Amino acid sequence: MSLEQIPATLIPGDGIGPEIMDSVTAVLTAAQAPFVWESHKAGLAGIEEYDTPLPQNTLESIRKTGLALKGPLTTPVGGGFKSINVTLRQEFGLYANVRPVKTLIPEGRFSDIDLVVVRENLEGFYAAQEHYLPADGYKEGIATCTGYTTRLESQRIVKFAFDYAMANGRKKVTIVHKANILKKLSGLFLEEARKVAKTYAGKVDFDERIVDACAMQLVINPWNYDVIVTTNLFGDILSDLASGLVGGLGLAPGSNIGTDAAIFEAVHGSAPDIAGKNTANPLALLMAATLMLRHVKHENTAKRIEIAIERVIKDRKALTPDIGGTASTRDMEQALIHFL
Ligand code: NAD
Repeated sequence: MSLEQIPATLIPGDGIGPEIMDSVTAVLTAAQAPFVWESHKAGLAGIEEYDTPLPQNTLESIRKTGLALKGPLTTPVGGGFKSINVTLRQEFGLYANVRPVKTLIPEGRFSDIDLVVVRENLEGFYAAQEHYLPADGYKEGIATCTGYTTRLESQRIVKFAFDYAMANGRKKVTIVHKANILKKLSGLFLEEARKVAKTYAGKVDFDERIVDACAMQLVINPWNYDVIVTTNLFGDILSDLASGLVGGLGLAPGSNIGTDAAIFEAVHGSAPDIAGKNTANPLALLMAATLMLRHVKHENTAKRIEIAIERVIKDRKALTPDIGGTASTRDMEQALIHFL
């Protein structure tokens, strides 16, 4: 049993968030994970209690602990408040979004997939100023979006991807871009990425792909990829695509890493269509918790939980509907605890 106690912020989140977070914390407790949780609200739950989607006490807690496990947060489409996920990444300088994609379900679309998407998390169109301009008789006839890329952030994320590859025994980094069309926005990223890649020559291989070709090849031959490093929007899309190859969003975890803080979450959103039904798959958030355990160097507990996940999947009796079963979130939680 670990005697170390690590304070960490817990944000249950919206929609299916509280249900899956309950199950994940139950499994973490059963596995004797070292976290001592400070539970705080954000998103719609934050608005309900504090009239703001990102309450001050939530921010202060993350600033203090430097570590958070976050459930999905609902973001209004079109108008409404800015994405809290994006705001948190910017507030804490969480520049690297790491999304591992691995086959767990043998009858998923493809077997033996094991790749990682490293996504730049602070720039591009996600940090853009958006404006409407009048045109063609409409008050809002044109929409503009000025995304940006900086040399320093491009260097930092590509270096992160190569260091990650080396630390995790990975052989190749693929730089994904659209520099043929977005010659400056994406071209600058590619220029810096090539320079960084050269400094790892002999240690980690690298190649380059244009994002549309990469999307096609991920479907045709995903085994050709090891670590992908790319800009914000492309990384967001490609990591969802890749998670679809291995059984869907219910199995895709992600971490947001900065120099002073790290936030771990599932790639999926708040799934309002199944919220409150006790059918959501808690595995993506649990896998995010294993990334968090590794981040604080509790490798053995992470491994124990991963083995329990593999056993639950192999056993098949406690799979949620999204991965071909009929079990509830709670059933899956209990099976995970049983297999620990
Ligand atoms: P979503 O990921 O919530 O749902 C897409 C589909 O996948 C739905 O059919 C849903 O039922 C299913 N799904 C997702 N997670 C699942 C799980 N754990 N188990 C079983 N099925 C699952 O995407 P969406 O519907 O486009 O977005 C809903 C809300 O979530 C939006 O407000 C969006 O902005 C937000 N969102 C938040 C995050 C985040 O907090 N990091 C990420 C993506 C989307």
